[in-house]
Amino acid sequence: MTRIAIVGVAGRMGRTLVNAVQQDADATLAGGIVEQGSSLAGADLGELAGVGKQGVMASDSLATIVDDFDVLIDFTAPRVTLNNLAFCAEHGKRIVIGTTGLSDDEQAELDAYRDRVPLVFAPNMSVGVNLTLKLLETAAKALGDEGYDIEVIESHHRHKVDAPSGTALKMGEVMADALERPLKEYGVFERVGQCGPRSDDEIGFATVRAGDIVGEHTVMFATEGERIEITHKASSRMTFAKGAVRAARWLAERPAGRYDMQDVIGLS
Ligand code: NAD
Repeated sequence: MTRIAIVGVAGRMGRTLVNAVQQDADATLAGGIVEQGSSLAGADLGELAGVGKQGVMASDSLATIVDDFDVLIDFTAPRVTLNNLAFCAEHGKRIVIGTTGLSDDEQAELDAYRDRVPLVFAPNMSVGVNLTLKLLETAAKALGDEGYDIEVIESHHRHKVDAPSGTALKMGEVMADALERPLKEYGVFERVGQCGPRSDDEIGFATVRAGDIVGEHTVMFATEGERIEITHKASSRMTFAKGAVRAARWLAERPAGRYDMQDVIGLS
């Protein structure tokens, strides 16, 4: 039985994660962390998530539950996540990280823990998206050098704070790696005004923010005469939460290292 604690437990993903842990027969809810000074400290996690009393209360300090959990699941914000990673290194804990929007420096800071902490870091924990990444790798290899333009279009709810989504960037990276075109050089993230025609090799990104869209990604491979579109649509946050709990259970048996969902699912 894997004992799981959730940071950011009052957030959209945090509440969904409580539900997912509670539904998993091989995982148990060991604690939940809210922001320091939050009025939700002391609240029952099950009531917070709308799944009925669980008898486990929210706390505003990780130190108070350090002996209660094996794996931390963190869907919060970059600086918060990096502080929690340092805590895990110090206390011999494992961590599943779903937070997106890390800068290059923050990514490097995270990566420096790979020899000390067993960690899963993935911008999208859904099994479907991770299979989609494999399909994109295959499609990019087959079409990318044959005159097909590659464009990534993503849509999310109006509250999302980073763009393009971590998933869209990951999709871009997978295709860029397959084509040996570094994304930093070939990614085009903005087109406005007299920007001229598209170049053959660029990978374009477009972002939509509207309403309550959970997460949709389409990758278009377009050439004269035809267009292939590979689309993934998430209709509920439960898909991410279930993936994160699966990752936590998988991680409980692993040595220090940086893993992603491809490792967890067995697609790597
Ligand atoms: P949200 O704003 O609803 O939730 C974030 C929560 O973190 C908030 O409740 C906030 O109070 C809490 N928080 C902030 N600082 C904290 C601290 N120091 N201690 C404890 N809690 C703290 O956001 P969300 O929609 O749940 O998304 C959170 C993150 O997860 C974002 O980066 C988002 O892009 C990412 N996300 C990843 C996946 C995935 O599959 N990897 C899926 C969905 C969302």
